[in-house]
Amino acid sequence: MSDLQATATLVPALSQPTVLIHHSYRPPADFEAPAPGVHKASTVFFPSVAALRSRDWKDKSAYTYGLHGTPTTFTLEEHIATLEGGAHCVLVPSGLAAIALVDMALLRAGDELLIPHNAYGPNKSFAAVELAGWGIVARYYDPMNPADLAARISDKTRLVWLEAAGSVTLEFPDLPALTAIVRQASAGRARPIVSVLDNTWGAGVAFCGFDLGADLVMQALTKYPSGGGDVLMGSVVTRDPALHRELLLTHMRLGLGVGANDAELVLRGLPSIALRYAAQDAAARELAGWMQAQPGVKQVLHPALPGSPGHETWQRDARGAASLFTVVFDDAIAPERVVAFCDALKLFRLGYSWAGPVSLCVPYERSEMRGRDWPHAHGPVRLAVGLESVADLRADLAQALRVLNA
Ligand SMILES: *Cc1c(COP(=O)(O)O)cnc(C)c1O
Repeated sequence: MSDLQATATLVPALSQPTVLIHHSYRPPADFEAPAPGVHKASTVFFPSVAALRSRDWKDKSAYTYGLHGTPTTFTLEEHIATLEGGAHCVLVPSGLAAIALVDMALLRAGDELLIPHNAYGPNKSFAAVELAGWGIVARYYDPMNPADLAARISDKTRLVWLEAAGSVTLEFPDLPALTAIVRQASAGRARPIVSVLDNTWGAGVAFCGFDLGADLVMQALTKYPSGGGDVLMGSVVTRDPALHRELLLTHMRLGLGVGANDAELVLRGLPSIALRYAAQDAAARELAGWMQAQPGVKQVLHPALPGSPGHETWQRDARGAASLFTVVFDDAIAPERVVAFCDALKLFRLGYSWAGPVSLCVPYERSEMRGRDWPHAHGPVRLAVGLESVADLRADLAQALRVLNA
């Protein structure tokens, strides 16, 4: 007799649709396999009214509603907290949502925040438009000059963003010096100044953001933790339970949940993150060094290359580098030749994001470098190295360089 028939026999008054919804079968609990189970829920059941009224999800002791966590999202939170060397994690639907969550949780009208001028562009846009509309003022600082940060902190400063390496131009800042300035300025304030590192580049693999002094570490899990180019997710991790609680309550009020299937994909990517990071790092360094010697190339930006801004700090503080390098072409080359170079690439596909299996290329316009020190005729071309063979990628770059120089 099948379990369905058994149930129907035990409760003969229930019709087939009802039995299929309220089926009594429960599989044995002690199932163990390499991958954790995937639990999907909006609704979570309570055994009693007392349980419904007393359960607390905030300390992960119980389940109340899909937005407040499932075994799958709790598991991923713990894994990401470990990856970053922190204690508490919240998950959000994208890296950009993680940036917005930090800003919205910690800033109020009248506050100021400081952002490095080479920060991820949408971080600056969120501050310039959304935060400005709520009476919060963004100021920008030079991350390669700690004295500039110190000079810009005011009695209204509440949050300082950090990014290592900087977006597109890949300058590697002195994070211990910058976070020490924030801590010193914060001492004795009723509302402390919080430092938050966008750690998407380091991914929790190249260095620990907390050991370099950050209070909060956010990451676009979209990049290395996923590794597939097929998931969008973000995280915010801290070692401080009080800061975590502030983030968690804003996270709840905003309704920022992540889907179980996406969480599963990131959990699947994590066991191989160190191997992928190292392999892609080695390939990118080989190609960046090669590219530097090619005709038509003025400069290659990558913190492991001597002469790249922050190279010495990167050597001191990091154990690896993300697989990104940025090419600046000779000023004398016509702008349409740079476009032709990008269009000629075959293995490097044109597309945003990075850290997946496919190598990618994004040409930036010179006008997009406004607000930065950019003394070059052309906008930069950022290359992200995937998991293809280095020899094939070098051949692809070589044929595109022939088009550039034709
Ligand atoms: C990609 C990226 C983000 C945003 O991540 P999304 O998941 O695409 O929203 C934020 N910061 C940095 C440095 C990134 O590279």
